Amino acid sequence: MIEFRNVNKHFGSFHVLKQISLTIQQGEVVVIIGPSGSGKSTLLRCINRLEPITDGQLVVQDVQLHDKKTNVNRLRRDIGMVFQHFNLYPHMSVLDNITLAPMKVRGIPRGEAVETAMHYLRKVGIPEKAGAYPSQLSGGQQQRVAIARGLAMKPRIMLFDEPTSALDPEMIGEVLDVMKDLAHEGMTMVVVTHEMGFAREVADRVVFMDQGQIVEEAVPLEFFSNPREERARLFLSRLL
Ligand code: ADP
Ligand code: MG
Repeated sequence: MIEFRNVNKHFGSFHVLKQISLTIQQGEVVVIIGPSGSGKSTLLRCINRLEPITDGQLVVQDVQLHDKKTNVNRLRRDIGMVFQHFNLYPHMSVLDNITLAPMKVRGIPRGEAVETAMHYLRKVGIPEKAGAYPSQLSGGQQQRVAIARGLAMKPRIMLFDEPTSALDPEMIGEVLDVMKDLAHEGMTMVVVTHEMGFAREVADRVVFMDQGQIVEEAVPLEFFSNPREERARLFLSRLL
């Protein structure tokens, strides 16, 4: 579903992604970990071409993203993205936040968009907040709305960039639970996170990045019990 082949990316003279090769199958949950500044967010943003790559090949759902002539608008509709900061529209109700893109981008009639929005609000556990404004919600609730908003576009891939990093500790679990459910339902997910418990329990594969490279890629059990690379060992030992 997602394939990086020898992908490089530069920001000016800075080489941010170095010879990235990574294949993600439909229904897989891949967790990306690594130190701050290692290129995790940039890698994620390449998948919907929020960042263009410099060279190599990147194919997502058979769309050739390395080809500058490729129109990515269609592909972007199929990819949901959830950020550290929830990026909800503050002047719009929860319901309007969720129905906006389906109505504007997909042309779905309001009644149907509302029905879908309520379905996903129930799924993330806060249907009673449909009429509330973002400022009236806790951080965990806002992030669950952001996930519902992503899902309402019926994406085939969900990208998460440190979705719990801005949350108070007591709210992290409720967001991770929603993500776990999604994973169990077979969503293809690429998740950048520092939540090692989530990685252990939910990931099909863990990808460890450092300084723009994929240093190690393994199933969680293997990675956490016996990392092969020194840099991965060091990273894990600092977390404990
Ligand atoms: P991570 O998510 O792993 O913390 P990022 O992908 O955000 O890392 O950033 C990797 C490196 O690229 C960092 O050194 C960062 O400063 C740099 N970087 C990120 N975005 C830009 C940009 N738009 N222009 C220049 N440098 C950038
Ligand atoms: Mg980042």
